[in-house]
Amino acid sequence: MEHAIIVGAGLVGSLLSVYLAQANFKVSIFERNSDPNQINLQVGKSINITLCERGFQALDAVGVGNVVRKLCIPLYGRIVHSQDGQCTYQPYGNNQEAIYAIKREDLSQVLLDFSQKQENIDFYFQQKCIDIDLQTTTLKFQQLNTGAITKVQAQRIFAADGAYSAIRQKMQRLKRFNYSQEYLEQGYREIIIPSNRERSWLLEKNAIHIWPRDNFMLIGFPNLDGSFSLSLHLPYVGRISHESIKTHEDIQKLFETYFSDILPLVKSSLQDYCMKPIGDMITIKCFPWTYQDKAALIGDACHAIFPYYGQGANAGFEDCQILIQCMEKYPGDWQTILQEYEKSRKPNTDAIAHLCSEHFRILRKLVGDPNFLLRKKIERKIQKMYPEYSSLYHNITFTCMPYAEALRVEQKNRAVIDKIVAIDDVEEKLDTPEIGLLISKLVRNVKAPVLARV
Ligand SMILES: Cc1cc2nc3c(=O)[nH]c(=O)nc-3n(C[C@H](O)[C@H](O)[C@H](O)COP(=O)(O)OP(=O)(O)OC[C@H]3O[C@@H](n4cnc5c(N)ncnc54)[C@H](O)[C@@H]3O)c2cc1C
Repeated sequence: MEHAIIVGAGLVGSLLSVYLAQANFKVSIFERNSDPNQINLQVGKSINITLCERGFQALDAVGVGNVVRKLCIPLYGRIVHSQDGQCTYQPYGNNQEAIYAIKREDLSQVLLDFSQKQENIDFYFQQKCIDIDLQTTTLKFQQLNTGAITKVQAQRIFAADGAYSAIRQKMQRLKRFNYSQEYLEQGYREIIIPSNRERSWLLEKNAIHIWPRDNFMLIGFPNLDGSFSLSLHLPYVGRISHESIKTHEDIQKLFETYFSDILPLVKSSLQDYCMKPIGDMITIKCFPWTYQDKAALIGDACHAIFPYYGQGANAGFEDCQILIQCMEKYPGDWQTILQEYEKSRKPNTDAIAHLCSEHFRILRKLVGDPNFLLRKKIERKIQKMYPEYSSLYHNITFTCMPYAEALRVEQKNRAVIDKIVAIDDVEEKLDTPEIGLLISKLVRNVKAPVLARV
């Protein structure tokens, strides 16, 4: 039986362990955190994850999807709260499509439990990876309680140790290893809306709530216990920023001015707001992801992205599925398996990284913008006429279309909508036969740009 070591029992490491065990590997998984319940519960990191089609496909393939579904709340659209208290509902699609919100710790726990039930998987907690010899596939771990150092060797190493991966850092010292990182100029702090006395929700529960305010925004997700987890995203510096909001009075005033509709619901949670840590957001790109036939990076370790499309974990789950497909295609040929894995994933994770940066601007600025809303309306009209003509959000979230292909389709969609939105008073004319005819013509004639196939 082949032996694989996974470093990191976060969302991706746990799922990968199941995939490998089901492929008849003996798996040892090393995690620096001690308490399984605490894994991945980094304070200040969002406590909610939204899962979508591609994430579920990867979870279903090993039989854990339905366990996860039970802990999710379906979200059918966004509710945008403007500063004057008006709310606009934007459904995600015409057919009740939903994304699924789950508490990060619930997801982490379910995946760990599921992994621990499999045969051939051994967990080692409080073991921090401090070095790797890639040539001999030997890892050095430090036991965090005792300080004891151990060395462990296996045929294959998988680094699922997140955005600040120790193994990637070692690979960065190899010749011609490409690496880039970019921090977002904004960070976030969490604010909770508790449930009401009946443990039900004080806001509509089947939607994401967004309060876009140009340079900053508040986002809220429902939890199963009736509470909502909000995160306030602010620039680090500037007039309204983490730097300028220093006291309880400052945050109270910010809410009075910009989020007055929600203030009564969050008042008690604002007390300790300024004591909470600020979560950073980072995009990481690197290449190669693998070392010979011996080691591979997976999940955030090789492609951390901004969270605004809710795709980081979904993409990491998809990595696991693609890796296993490569194993099935080239049995035993690890050099080819790892090369095919990185070749197939890299263009797609680059595409989603790009789309996440864009979506950050869309959510923050454009969600409450009339032009954006008009574009969405046109998009829904086109979708009604051509069910196969799908939006970027749809392709990313409700299909398993490769991200790079979704980006290519989007270029065409944008070109069509650009032309329709430019028509005078188009909103009033949207349901007229003339606009219908124009849409048909444009959909037929506008060509999608040709991108490299992935
Ligand atoms: C604010 C925010 C919101 C998000 N929302 C979503 C969302 O809605 N949907 C979505 O799909 N994704 C979302 N993401 C992204 C998602 O959290 C990540 O993509 C996902 O957690 C990556 O999983 P991972 O297992 O690769 O890394 P991680 O979750 O970071 O796990 C890495 C694990 O490795 C362990 N580790 C690290 N270093 C070592 C070491 N040296 N030795 C041993 N163990 C180590 C860590 O303790 C951890 O358990 C969001 C991210 C943020 C920041």
